[in-house]
Amino acid sequence: MPDVVIVGAGPVGLFLACELGLAGCSVVVLEREAEPGSPWRAEPLGVRGLFAASLQAFHRRGLLPPLLAASGAHDVPGPELDADGPPPIRGGVGHFAGIVLDPTKVDLTALPFRLPSLAPDFTMTSLAAVETVLSERASQLGVEIRRGVTVSGLAQDDDGVVVRAGEEAYAARWVVGCDGGRSVVRRLAGFEFVGTEPRFTGYTVVATLADPEVLRPGINLTPTGMYLRLRAEGHIGAMDFDGGAFDRSQPPTLDHLQTVLRRVSGTDVTLTEVHRASTFTDRAMQTTTYRQRRVLLAGDAAHIHSPLGGQGLNTGLGDALNLGWKLAATVHGHAPDGLLDTYTRERHRVGAQVLDWSRAQVAAMSPDRHGQALQGVLRDLLGTQDGTTYAFGKLSGSSVRHDLGSDHPLVGRNAPDFRLEDGAYLADLMHDGRGVVLDFSTDHRLRDAAADRRSRLRYAAGTAKDDLGLGAVLVRPDGVVAWIGERDVDRKAFEQAADQWFGNAGA
Ligand SMILES: Cc1cc2nc3c(=O)[nH]c(=O)nc-3n(C[C@H](O)[C@H](O)[C@H](O)COP(=O)(O)OP(=O)(O)OC[C@H]3O[C@@H](n4cnc5c(N)ncnc54)[C@H](O)[C@@H]3O)c2cc1C
Repeated sequence: MPDVVIVGAGPVGLFLACELGLAGCSVVVLEREAEPGSPWRAEPLGVRGLFAASLQAFHRRGLLPPLLAASGAHDVPGPELDADGPPPIRGGVGHFAGIVLDPTKVDLTALPFRLPSLAPDFTMTSLAAVETVLSERASQLGVEIRRGVTVSGLAQDDDGVVVRAGEEAYAARWVVGCDGGRSVVRRLAGFEFVGTEPRFTGYTVVATLADPEVLRPGINLTPTGMYLRLRAEGHIGAMDFDGGAFDRSQPPTLDHLQTVLRRVSGTDVTLTEVHRASTFTDRAMQTTTYRQRRVLLAGDAAHIHSPLGGQGLNTGLGDALNLGWKLAATVHGHAPDGLLDTYTRERHRVGAQVLDWSRAQVAAMSPDRHGQALQGVLRDLLGTQDGTTYAFGKLSGSSVRHDLGSDHPLVGRNAPDFRLEDGAYLADLMHDGRGVVLDFSTDHRLRDAAADRRSRLRYAAGTAKDDLGLGAVLVRPDGVVAWIGERDVDRKAFEQAADQWFGNAGA
């Protein structure tokens, strides 16, 4: 019986599989699709934006170069890596409700924990690219991916879980549902899924247009909704405020798509052929917990919302990163009490904030006087340095801070990519999935205490190019700062923090 069965080989399921495989767990992934590489997941329809926190996660596992290559992204960091002071934004900031944010307006001095890193702040990729990189990695780590398996039943007791797919049964000690927005695992395990109903139907279309030039390129906010003319020829998006009525009610015909596009764009655009089209809504729902005994959820299975601003995949990858090492420690029996429950505690709050971020965008796009008025105010605010910096924090993930019981503003945040005197970045030290202690103290005060925990913690001592005024930093495997030591490092406090997150030394 494997330690963990993951249902769904989407990006979240595969990222989690890699994390668990890296930590030495036996993992089987069950995936409904018989073959990878469906056209819905490849460019152009599968195109997705990844923000800094996700890119750093790939970076910390040594997967950034293959990801950028598979995405066709050519991000080459320049001299800013060696410059002093906070580095400029690389790759863009994104948008809020169609209001595109200007990277040059981010106030870098207001981001004191931003250090130069090889990981960019944003890049375009596709679901297919992410899945290709992760499934290759998962296979190298011994993860078994079984395709053409549609899970339809689930039962759990105190010792394990059995999922069923037709006549087949798969038993495991733990099951994680990463099976997307219409999750079967969520329903079968009895998770409560609550939230708000939709205001619009969204369309994503690849079509031939008689007169593409009548549509403006990029993201366009209009008095009746929003439309997008994307990079690939004929790739169009639209949001139509019909209360979500059309979504999945019937297949979108050419006539219907043209009527919607004309209404939303205020043009007389003509579609001559539709190659592919699908719909979505801004329904925003979240499970009330991410764990029911031995069944956990991650990604769209746990939270759905509109794709506005591109947060779903990023949030799901964040779930997988947070869950992986905690579940692995639980499987291996060395997790401190309550560690697994911190998964819901930390990630549910992040998910709820993302749902609200998407709801706020929908409100600001409403095609009525109130929505238009709100949009005007937001356009002014987001055009300012403070407004852009605020939105950057939300989109990039840099404003996420878990409450880990410390007043220090870095504790609970994604760790900056500290760089040691030998040139190694923190990310380079995290490839094996262990936590990391960076000891900047001149007498290497934490060396012995860290050595007692070497199976779970990697120790690195030395001077940092910029140590942000700190004496030491304890970083969890998911990149979150668990503890910081001031200049005069307190060894006892370090040991306490290490025990809290990694279990007692030698256990
Ligand atoms: C138009 C659009 C644009 C978007 N743009 C962005 C963006 O720019 N940035 C961003 O962060 N997010 C974006 N998103 C959201 C993003 O695509 C999702 O949040 C992300 O794909 C979720 O990943 P996941 O692995 O949780 O689920 P999924 O990608 O849905 O994967 C679930 C997997 O589970 C499998 N599965 C389902 N049911 C079963 C079953 N019963 N048994 C076995 N396997 C099963 C499926 O086949 C699938 O492979 C966008 C979404 C849309 C619709």
